[in-house]
Amino acid sequence: MPGHAGAPERGASRKGDASKGRLVVLAGPSGVGKSSIVAELRKLYPELWFSVSATTREQRPGEVDGRDYRFVGPAEFDRMIAEGELLEWADIHSGTHRSGTPRQPIEERLNSGEPALLELDLQGARSVRAAMPDALLVFINPPSWDELVVRLTGRGTESEEVVARRLATAREELAARPEFDTEIVNADVHSAAQELLDLLTGA
Ligand code: 5GP
Repeated sequence: MPGHAGAPERGASRKGDASKGRLVVLAGPSGVGKSSIVAELRKLYPELWFSVSATTREQRPGEVDGRDYRFVGPAEFDRMIAEGELLEWADIHSGTHRSGTPRQPIEERLNSGEPALLELDLQGARSVRAAMPDALLVFINPPSWDELVVRLTGRGTESEEVVARRLATAREELAARPEFDTEIVNADVHSAAQELLDLLTGA
């Protein structure tokens, strides 16, 4: 509360507060390579703590429950919302599924003075900004729009309709760049991961 006796100055608990870990939120258009950057970052920084979202979508081949996502049914997801267990949640890809961020593990991690990383969609990044103003919002940009189109269509696993929807979402998300604190251009996954590491550790 502003002006409350004994409360720290507003600026003291901002992004530079060393007593708490830094919360870094990674967002950017679909297909920009966020998960590749995170995978590379894990090699550079194996002790990185990364939030595991809950999701109602189906598990994809190669995904591990509890590592990539916590896969839950719609009823369990409803319960988590009702009991306030999610810091934020969103309908993803026009409502094909819902994904959300469990609150408690993040708070525990930050209170122990260690950094935490969230990978979210734009809506999620905005919700975290509102719930935790100290969070550092990092936008991952493609080297160019054409490159992003190649990446989105090059996966070859989704229908034309799904790709079109992803491109539309990507356009909206690119327009949100000014809302972010900083950006990383993902021209090279190793350099992007290194830049992210510097942001996490405050280097
Ligand atoms: P996918 O379902 O393909 O893994 O991810 C689709 C989108 O959901 C991605 O843009 C990803 O960043 C976003 N996403 C994953 N987990 C969460 C979450 O917990 N909250 C929100 N708001 N978005 C998420």
